Amino acid sequence: MTRIVELFRKLSLQTKLVLIGLVPTMFFLYVSLQYFHAEKQKLSLLHNNIRLINRADAVNKLIEQLGVERRFGYEFALKKDELSDFKEQFKNTDSAIENLEKTDPELKDLRTYTMLDGLERTRQAVQKKAMPPDGVMGYYTTTMFRISYLDATPELLLDNSGEVNQQINGLKTLSEMNIYLGIINANIYNVLYANRKYAVGTLYGLVGLYQVYNTFEREFMLKASPGAKRSLKYINEKTALKPVITYLDTAFKRMNIDSTYNDVQWWKLSGSANDQLKSLQARLSARVSNTLISLEASENNKVQILLILLVVSLFLIAVVLSLTIRDIRIKLTGLRIAAEKIAVGETGLKLGDYTDDVIGKLAASVAKIDENNKTLAVAATAIGGGNFDIRIKPRGNTDLLGNALLQMKDELQHFTTQKLEYAAELERLLTVIRESETHFRKIADKIPLMIWQTDDQANAIYVNRKWLDYTGFSFEQSMGLKWLDAMHPDDRGSRAFPEAFAQRVSYRSRARFRNTEGEYRWMDIQGNPIFGNQVFEGFIGSLTDITHQMEAEQAMMDLMYKKDEFLSIASHELRTPLTSIKAYTQLLEKTANREDKSYQFVGKMLNHVSRLERLINDLLDVSRINSGRIDYNPESFQFAELLKNSVEAFSDITGSHEVVVENVADVTLKADRSRIEQVFNNLLSNAAKYSPDADKIWVDSRIEADFLVVSVKDVGVGIPKKDQRQLFERFYRSEKTSHRFQGLGLGLFISAEIIRRHGGDIWVQSNPDGGSVFYFKLPLTSNLITP
Ligand code: ADP
Repeated sequence: MTRIVELFRKLSLQTKLVLIGLVPTMFFLYVSLQYFHAEKQKLSLLHNNIRLINRADAVNKLIEQLGVERRFGYEFALKKDELSDFKEQFKNTDSAIENLEKTDPELKDLRTYTMLDGLERTRQAVQKKAMPPDGVMGYYTTTMFRISYLDATPELLLDNSGEVNQQINGLKTLSEMNIYLGIINANIYNVLYANRKYAVGTLYGLVGLYQVYNTFEREFMLKASPGAKRSLKYINEKTALKPVITYLDTAFKRMNIDSTYNDVQWWKLSGSANDQLKSLQARLSARVSNTLISLEASENNKVQILLILLVVSLFLIAVVLSLTIRDIRIKLTGLRIAAEKIAVGETGLKLGDYTDDVIGKLAASVAKIDENNKTLAVAATAIGGGNFDIRIKPRGNTDLLGNALLQMKDELQHFTTQKLEYAAELERLLTVIRESETHFRKIADKIPLMIWQTDDQANAIYVNRKWLDYTGFSFEQSMGLKWLDAMHPDDRGSRAFPEAFAQRVSYRSRARFRNTEGEYRWMDIQGNPIFGNQVFEGFIGSLTDITHQMEAEQAMMDLMYKKDEFLSIASHELRTPLTSIKAYTQLLEKTANREDKSYQFVGKMLNHVSRLERLINDLLDVSRINSGRIDYNPESFQFAELLKNSVEAFSDITGSHEVVVENVADVTLKADRSRIEQVFNNLLSNAAKYSPDADKIWVDSRIEADFLVVSVKDVGVGIPKKDQRQLFERFYRSEKTSHRFQGLGLGLFISAEIIRRHGGDIWVQSNPDGGSVFYFKLPLTSNLITP
């Protein structure tokens, strides 16, 4: 059941409407067909009745003719004189047989079963006088009786209790009366014609038939139509029937046939009586036939009208149904189009006229939606245009759109107010910014530096007044890359700025720029990347005139050069006499008397000479380093041996500090042995010099990776952090010690030069509060760098 409901729900509206039309149509069709069928049956009944009436006529005619033939045949058989009447009658009888056969196709073979097949034989026998009169009478009477049974009664009509049924009943009984009276009369005639001696026997034979005749008459008087009854009554009283019946009544009462009539008189009288009945029968038959035919015609008419009505009704149903479907479809299509338009946001739909039904109400709802949409659209447009006075009335809590628009209006109003406030605030800020920009420009223009700014493609977008004044360029002339025109052609190829720009890192360099007088002056250029919200925006920087500083530096360089030159010449010049002094002093030491007081002086002198010699050697080394003329003579030697010799020699000379050797790396070096020794000695003597209050120096050596690392540690004065990096520069001395300790600040410079030329490194770790460790490391495989 639910499946059928489900199936029905899935059907299209059109199909459902067709079904709605189809169900009563089918019912109507069914009822009409039933009615039609009943009418048809009635018609066929009528038709059948007409056929039966026609048949009854034909049967009666045949019986009549057979009666005539029986009489002539009987007369000939009895008297054997006049044959012509008998023979003349044959054709009448035969044509009555043919007529019956034709009238009703059902009786086609009637000769075979109604004893008519013996008719020809009987005729022959009568003609040959081979048949007795009783035989003749018997054959014809029996045959007529048999044929009378072909007279089938018309069926009564079911729904017609009126006249036609009375007529049919009358006809039926009258026909029986006719047959029975005919048989009785014929037999009475036989008695009168032949011999009265058969009278009693014949009467006994006929009395039953006469009673039957009377019962049919009574039935007639009960069932026949009033007109027919009147006619029979009339015949009974006014025609030949009356004396016949009176005669028969008397005969059957007395059981004797009197001589009131002879055979001929009786034949005529009884023939006339029979004719009266027959004629009444014929009239009744004709009336029934007519009634039936008119009934048939009217029924036929009815059926035809019914058919026409049926076709017209079906056509009307089909027309109304299709019009309804079409109308509903048009209306629904209109609504669908309207809904689609609403769905895509259209308003102002024209829906046309709709009837006051469900679809009409739906259309009204759609129109209402549209109207509301339009109102909302107008309101939204007004709000969009800044008109917040427009009234929006949601239709209830469930009116989402209306409520949303109302809320939107409120929020937009709030937002607009806020926007105006923000705009005012923005304007104020802009004024501040403009003022601050003006202020900034003033500063930028007044500042003694030249200021520049680029965009993120390195094109100049700003220069300050100082630049314009210096170069004589206009602002426009300075933008993009045009400012390069002011730069010295030799300085333009520098990669410093493009590289710094690409890496977005601070940048500093020097270059020459032309002023209004055509003079190129040195500028210190500084630039820094700028970022807005972490997005690179370009560079901003300055140009500072450093021409004077450059000149000073140059002068300084010249002086330094001259100093180096002087020191070089001086140390060379001093070295020869010093060598002589040293040689003579040594000679003096050997030759002098040790007991002599002056011997002490010789020793001191030798000490000073040695110091002076070291000093001059250092100076010479420096000048060699400066001019790149220092020579290295690499050789293979055991580091341990070098260490041992150096420590022993140092201990011999100093005596103030004990050298504690912690580890001795067992390694063979390939290097300039005397230079490495020089480095090591320098570190040892520094350690001793700068730890006057201590009595120990620690020496350590080890292999690390592919290097020999040597350290010299003291617990002396230490070195401030700021000096540690510069210690290895020429003439550099820590301020902390320069007043207390003598020296030139060259030892570490020379040592660093020697170590780095051997592919090694030198560095210091020192605590400013005391104690320093100097390290140097040398590659295990020779890595001497030749100049
Ligand atoms: P000098 O010792 O002749 O000044 P050096 O080149 O040997 O020249 O040393 C440079 C400077 O390094 C010294 O003036 C001193 O200030 C500092 N220095 C070197 N060795 C030590 C050390 N062991 N302890 C403290 N300061 C030292």
